[in-house]
Formats: sequence, C-alpha cells, structure tokens
Amino acid sequence: MPLGMSRMVVGYRARFEALLKQLNARRLEQGVQLLLARAEQLRQQGMQKHVALAHVHDRLWRIVEKRKSSRPHATAHPSACNEAPHRFVCDSGLAGLARWLRAAGYEAYWEPAIPDDRLLALARQTNAILLTTDSMLLERRLIRTGIIKCLWIPPAMSAEAQLALVFRELGLSLQPARCMSCGGELQPVDKNAVRERVPPKTWRWKDEFFLCKSCDKLFWHGTHWERITQRLNKLTT
Ligand SMILES: [Zn+2]
Repeated sequence: MPLGMSRMVVGYRARFEALLKQLNARRLEQGVQLLLARAEQLRQQGMQKHVALAHVHDRLWRIVEKRKSSRPHATAHPSACNEAPHRFVCDSGLAGLARWLRAAGYEAYWEPAIPDDRLLALARQTNAILLTTDSMLLERRLIRTGIIKCLWIPPAMSAEAQLALVFRELGLSLQPARCMSCGGELQPVDKNAVRERVPPKTWRWKDEFFLCKSCDKLFWHGTHWERITQRLNKLTT
C-alpha cells in the first residue's frame, strides 16, 4: 500500500473503522481501503501524509456528525456521558492535551516517559479513558476486549485540535476549570488570605482568586485565563 503501514496509518485505520461502524457500513475493510486510497490521492497532489489522513478523517467525521444530528432521538454519543464524569490517562506524547483537558475541567494524568504497562495499569485502576498516540497500544488485550477504554489521538495534530477531537468523540462539555499544572480542583479563596502572593497590579483589578487543592498554585481570571477560556469555547461549540 502506497501510504505504508506506519503507526500513524494503523491508528487512522482504526479511526476509519470506528467511524464507518457508526455509519453502519457493511463492508468495513472495503470502506477503509477507499478512505486510505483517497488520502493517498491527496498525498500525490502534494499534501503531506499526516495532513491528507487528517483531512479524510475530518470529512468522514462530519458525515457521522450530520447523520447523528439528523436523528435527534438516537443516542448522540454512545460512549458518553451520563455516568461518572470522565477522567483520562494520557501517554507521554500528550502533555499539551493533558493541560487543555484540565483547563476544560477534566482530570488528566500525565507523566514523562511513562512505560506502556504502567499506562494501562493506571487507566484500569482509576477507571480512566486512555488517550494515546501509539496505535500499537490498540492491539493490547485489555484494550481490544474493551476492559480499558482507549481513544487513539493523531500525533501530528495540535493540542487544541486533539482536545476538540476528544470532546466531539465523547460528547463532553466544558466543566469548571481545574489546575492546569496538576489537575487538582480549584477552590475560591479569600483575597486577603493570599495578599502576599498577588502582584500589586493584579491586587488592584481582581477580586476573585482560586487555590489548587492539590498543589496550592494560585489562580485568577487574568488575560491568560481569558484567552484559554475563549479558545475552549470556540473549540467546543
Ligand atoms: Zn495544582
């Protein structure tokens, strides 16, 4: 096959298959081949491989979304969302996504250079959804059998686009922000109790402050926060 069977292509194959299933396509393998052929065509027209695959994926996704919205009584997101709130375990390549997930209000565990077995064990112990850029992980028994829920994330996407993918795929909505450093819960704190920690200019303009319950980091709704909130709103509507 001209696109080769790199880990990225293997990951996209799995995504194509999952989306075709949502469309109740009958000849899955044939459908996957057609989509890969379309990506190859785009590549030959000068697109980079990862862009071509992402493009085909996005087109297919739009079809799935459209189909879902034209059937308002069908369950829009079978994998979501009335149960316990989702929490995530991210592989080493997804530090940026973990931070965005926390800003969007979800617990997201991340550590550098985490071995696969520990990643799987953590996801299982904490009943978390595993987010990975490594398509080889999809072959692990715990994932194939659905004991651990796993979503493959295309590695060449920006962290924001990855977040949009997770939101769309799982039907998530924005929750109160968590600490972007550690994922801890943010708790409102009296302004006077943190006086020494607030820069004088901020002290004059801001009245609402929050402390992370886990790492004690101090937050306020500054320009950085507002920028993030704006981008989150844009991504998730
Ligand atoms: Zn924290």
